Amino acid sequence: MKVTEHIKKANGNTQFSFEILPPLKGQHIQSVFDNIDPLMEFKPPFIDVTYHREEYVYKELENGLLKKQVVKKRPGTVGICAAIQNKYNVDAIPHILCGGFTKEDTENFLIDLDFLGIHNVMALRGDAVKTETYFRPEKEGNLYASDLVSQVSELNKGKYLDEELKNSSETNFCVGVAAYPEKHMEAPSLDSDIHFLKKKIKNGAEYIVTQMFFDNKKYFDFVEKCRSEGITVPIIPGLKPIATKKQLNLIPHRFHVDLPEDLIIEIVKCKDNSQVRQVGIEWCIEQSKALRKAGIPVLHYYSMGKSDNIQAVASKLF
Ligand SMILES: Cc1cc2nc3c(=O)[nH]c(=O)nc-3n(C[C@H](O)[C@H](O)[C@H](O)COP(=O)(O)OP(=O)(O)OC[C@H]3O[C@@H](n4cnc5c(N)ncnc54)[C@H](O)[C@@H]3O)c2cc1C
Repeated sequence: MKVTEHIKKANGNTQFSFEILPPLKGQHIQSVFDNIDPLMEFKPPFIDVTYHREEYVYKELENGLLKKQVVKKRPGTVGICAAIQNKYNVDAIPHILCGGFTKEDTENFLIDLDFLGIHNVMALRGDAVKTETYFRPEKEGNLYASDLVSQVSELNKGKYLDEELKNSSETNFCVGVAAYPEKHMEAPSLDSDIHFLKKKIKNGAEYIVTQMFFDNKKYFDFVEKCRSEGITVPIIPGLKPIATKKQLNLIPHRFHVDLPEDLIIEIVKCKDNSQVRQVGIEWCIEQSKALRKAGIPVLHYYSMGKSDNIQAVASKLF
């Protein structure tokens, strides 16, 4: 079922969903199931699985020269999605990227998903590869997420890259896209970012999931701005309970979001990470309660490979 249909079917009730990462290469899929199992009691209508593009690593050879290698540290997004749908009978949403994909690669990827019965995708541009400053698309690839959304929409109309294909079948993907209540790091302004968000919707995206935020006001202000710009699709909030002291610096650096002063003070007071974890859980519960009270259709949690604190939050709400 499509995400939009899940939202309609819930009839105003707030639903629980979450995002997982594929495990590092070499690990068993059981590690994924071990993270999902404790969260199934909260009846997620869908589970997102992130996509991790290639990285360049340099290995030193015996002669001292460096050899560049292309590696994928977390492969398996499609396989995990298929396994989730098969094992739990829950819709799995693979994230698909512009980065590292030609349009032909994307088309073939979407065909695999369609054949597997996966009918939701989260369309993203992706970041620059770690050794580069700016995002660079493949030569025949999509430049922005809005272009990727267009490609999926065309396939939904049965239009493949090879225009000479005869009797081509239509796919039926529901497309989600990302948004940033505190602005995407590259956008010159929030208004400009929302302008391009609108383009993603115009090109066929049916719902939005936000970057994590720790101050609900940021989310509510953002939603209001989007609505005044004519964006009417569901805007699903992304939430993450802070779990370690290190994340005080890591989260703003990596995700370009601010932490509220009150939360920082509470975390700084903690003697160890088990105390931080508790503060993070309680903060996230309060955020979630206020969002649910406002009638938000889905609360989406970033598990980042660990489900125990998400379970602690969800048990107080769902
Ligand atoms: C919910 C969520 C899930 C994510 N999952 C993943 C994942 O699985 N894997 C992963 O690698 N990354 C993931 N990311 C991170 C994401 O890939 C990065 O934030 C990336 O830098 C931007 O992706 P986007 O789809 O928002 O890009 P876009 O919507 O393409 O926007 C990128 C930037 O370009 C600007 N822009 C857009 N269109 C135009 C235009 N036509 N002209 C000029 N400027 C334009 C935007 O304002 C923005 O600043 C996720 C992010 C979120 C919020």
